[in-house]
Amino acid sequence: MTSNQEDYLKVLYEAGGLERHISNKEIADKLAVAPASVSEMLAKLNQNGLVEYEPYKGSRLTEAGLAACMDVVRSHRLWEVFLMRHLGYTWREAHEDAHLLEHVAPARMVERLDMFLNHPRMCPHGHEIPQRRELPHPVPLLRLSDLHVGERAVVSQIEEEGALLDYLERIGLHIRKPVEVVEIEEYEGGVTFVQEGRMIHVGQAAARRIFVEREEGSEQ
Ligand SMILES: [Zn+2]
Ligand SMILES: [Zn+2]
Repeated sequence: MTSNQEDYLKVLYEAGGLERHISNKEIADKLAVAPASVSEMLAKLNQNGLVEYEPYKGSRLTEAGLAACMDVVRSHRLWEVFLMRHLGYTWREAHEDAHLLEHVAPARMVERLDMFLNHPRMCPHGHEIPQRRELPHPVPLLRLSDLHVGERAVVSQIEEEGALLDYLERIGLHIRKPVEVVEIEEYEGGVTFVQEGRMIHVGQAAARRIFVEREEGSEQ
């Protein structure tokens, strides 16, 4: 499988393509490629039994497709942990360079990396690291923008997009720490919340891409 094919499977997985059909448009947006090349690639993956494509509905990952992308997802997230913990990478840098390493690192290197890092459970952006031979099912998550004033929740994960990662790291957002919403501006306005005693304000677009959980899962 080419690294390009691996990217398609990974995007499908991360968009919830085990549970629902993902449209060509959504895939094209996520990969920043032309819709025509998406159709072409999906036809190929469909032929190889890695996705199941239905006209007008989109594509779902098959079991074979899932198995094929699992190793890539695992490798990507382990590399992110390594790059941040040991090489001083930022959130964005780690995501970008892990994307290069995920395709070239052989399986035994990834397993040694996992041991070296002492089997981390999450990537630095809060996404679960799948264990060998099983992928976690994506959990439906609440967005920061869904919370009301006065509500508390724990930041569980953030969407991995370069500019967003830079922005959230710069304003000092932390993963796995509780937040309490103190103000929501009217009509698609921003959200102001407190995290670890600090007041933080984010715009609506960012608030929709920060995911939270209601139960107490914070590290005290
Ligand atoms: Zn990433
Ligand atoms: Zn990550």
